[in-house]
Amino acid sequence: MRTISEMRSLRKGDIGLVPTMGAFHEGHLSLMRSARELCDQLVVSLFVNPLQFGPNEDLDSYPTNEDRDISLAQQEDVDILFAPSESEMYESMRTTVRVAEVSDLWEGERRPGHFEGVATVVAKLFGIVGCRFAHFGQKDYQQCKVIESMVNDLSMDVVLFFHDTIRELDGLAMSSRNAYLSPAQRAAAPAIFQGLSELSTELQFASARPVEESLQRVLAWWKSLGMEPEYLALVDANTLKPLRTNSHNSRLITAVRIGDTRLIDNVDSSLVEY
Ligand code: AMP
Repeated sequence: MRTISEMRSLRKGDIGLVPTMGAFHEGHLSLMRSARELCDQLVVSLFVNPLQFGPNEDLDSYPTNEDRDISLAQQEDVDILFAPSESEMYESMRTTVRVAEVSDLWEGERRPGHFEGVATVVAKLFGIVGCRFAHFGQKDYQQCKVIESMVNDLSMDVVLFFHDTIRELDGLAMSSRNAYLSPAQRAAAPAIFQGLSELSTELQFASARPVEESLQRVLAWWKSLGMEPEYLALVDANTLKPLRTNSHNSRLITAVRIGDTRLIDNVDSSLVEY
C-alpha cells in the first residue's frame, strides 16, 4: 500500500505493526514472526525516514531493495506492507514529537534531531495504522526507551514489545548497514559483541568495583583493531544515565565506527544475584 487512505481503508481487527526502513534481514523477519503470532492483521511499514537522518549521514546511500522486501514479507505472511513515498508522509508537517531526557544522551548527542525524527515517524505510523501492538528490536536499545517514554507520556493506546537482538553466527548484530563493510572490516566487526559480552560477564559479578578501567581496556582493544569507538558506557537500563559501578538493572551500550560505517550494539549487564 502506498497511500495513507488505502492503508486506513484496509484496517481490520487487532493490528500488529513492525516499523522498518527496509533492506530486510533476519532481525526484521524475526520481528515479523513474533508479531504475526499476536495479531489479527500484521502490518509492516517500509519507509526510509528522512527526518531521522542528519545532513552528513547515509540517507542517500541507505540500502534499498523493495522487490526483495516484498517477497520476504509475503513469505512471513505479512498482510499489509505499507510503503509510502516521502511526499505522502510529509506533505504538510508542522508537528514533531520530542522526548526529553532519554533522547538527549548517547545517540541523541551524536546525532542531533535523530530521535525527534524517530519519535515523529513512529507516532505518525501509529496514527495511520491504528495498531494495538507494535514491535521493535533491542538492537536499537535507546530507540526502544524513547518510544516507550513517548507512548507513556502521550498515553498512546499501543502495547509495545521489545525483542532480543538477532546476530550473525560470529555475534555481529544484524544490521542493514553491515552491507557497507569491506571484507577486512567485516572480519574485525565481531569484536564489538565479543568486547561487550566479555565486559558483561565480568561486570555481572562486580558489584562495588568502579567499571571505568574495564571499559578502557575494551576501548583500547577495539582501537588496536583499527576501529574508532564513539562511546562505550555502562548505563542504567531505564534512564540510560552512566553508572560508575554496576547495578541490578544495567546495560552496556556502544557505537563504533569502522571506516565510514557506524555500528551500534548493546547487551544486558545487570548484576547477578548469588
Ligand atoms: P530498521 O529497518 O533498521 O529501522 O529496523 C527496523 C526494526 O528492526 C527496529 O525495531 C530495529 O530495532 C529492528 N532490528 C534491526 N536490526 C535488528 C536485529 N539485529 N535484531 C533485532 N531487531 C532488529
